[in-house]
Amino acid sequence: MQRRLALWILIALGAGFLAGIGLGFLGLHQFVKDWIAPFGEIFIRLLQMVAIPLIITSLISGVAHLSDMARLSKLGLLTISYYIFTTTVAIVIGLVLVNITQPGKLFPPDQQEIFREQFKHQVEEKVSVAQEVSVSSPLRFLVDLVPKNIFQSVEDNKKMLQVIFFALFLGLALAMSPRNKVQTAIKFFEGLNEAILKMVELIMLFAPIGVFALMTSIIVDFSRGGEISSMLEALGTYMLTVVLGLFLLILFLYPSILKFIAKFSPIKFFKEMYPVQMVAFSTSSSAATLPVTMKVVTEKLRVPEETASFVLPLGATINMDGTALYQAVAAVFIAQAMGWDLTVSQQATIVLTATLASIGAAAVPGAGIVMLVIILQALGIGPAGIALILAVDRPLDMLRTVVNVTSDATCAVTVSKLINEKG
Ligand code: ASP
Repeated sequence: MQRRLALWILIALGAGFLAGIGLGFLGLHQFVKDWIAPFGEIFIRLLQMVAIPLIITSLISGVAHLSDMARLSKLGLLTISYYIFTTTVAIVIGLVLVNITQPGKLFPPDQQEIFREQFKHQVEEKVSVAQEVSVSSPLRFLVDLVPKNIFQSVEDNKKMLQVIFFALFLGLALAMSPRNKVQTAIKFFEGLNEAILKMVELIMLFAPIGVFALMTSIIVDFSRGGEISSMLEALGTYMLTVVLGLFLLILFLYPSILKFIAKFSPIKFFKEMYPVQMVAFSTSSSAATLPVTMKVVTEKLRVPEETASFVLPLGATINMDGTALYQAVAAVFIAQAMGWDLTVSQQATIVLTATLASIGAAAVPGAGIVMLVIILQALGIGPAGIALILAVDRPLDMLRTVVNVTSDATCAVTVSKLINEKG
């Protein structure tokens, strides 16, 4: 990404923030909804539009060139190990912090009823989505990995894992077939991949406008939630705990992995990654950010396409350190607010369920809070507890999405260095 464009996106982020405050102050909510917010939605749609085609073409053309199967399994093993390791670290950090700050204990009991009443409908909606996910057998996730009809999976952005499965399979089959017979097919996907990357570049020219619109409407929406002020102490401490945890990941965990394991300069990494982080922040969706992440990781961080096209789509779907950390903090916060003191074994349940829940969370805004319902149910706490945190979820969602994409990119760089690739 050109430096000038990255600067424009940063300016748009700040300008959107200020415009949101100003327009919210003037009470122009409807104006923002009618005339500004649609541009943000267009930006997200443009990114979503290219996400699935990009996964398909880059994964197929990347894997089709892998003649060495041992390398592919090494790539898979390293990637999955990284994902499990960082997710567990994130959850443990979240649990340690929330046990120190204990934000739930600051929650006045008389406010709980008010919150539950106010967010009743949203809670019901999230609970019913969570039920669809949880009413299934233990091996359901494996069954769900395999598409019934690839064209149907392609239609649904939430079925990204099925698309990855198909593309990986087709790529492998191409790699195993006689070269002279499949050469045209491989070239076709390569050419298409090139063109889709060009589309990403063109879409990014629109990013400053999209980011501005998204920020303005988010801030205006948020300024309506006046009811939060009564709960400032408890909710503020809860938010600070999540934010502190997320900062620890960004400032210590990933730079350490880059420096000591990948032997890659964290400064260079963050310099190139900040436009990606801004897109993640304003869209709140790792899936929508994926095309931008792929472009920066391959072109600026010089991770070869075969590796990036495997690690990044998979990471966007299953590796969510920010979400996992947030879920751990939120679960304990809600438990504390409801007067529960969680035992060590209950906290261990959080580690396990939050890992699975962050894997299961779709890479779209608000997915983390749906999966939180499942964690609360595993702990035996009523899911209505999410009412306590719904009002402040969006800003935390924005921040955890930044962490999620940063972790995916760190993984791509690290794995690529570990298998000794030259960019
Ligand atoms: N919005 C997050 C993401 O896309 C998921 C979540 O935590 O809600 O990465």
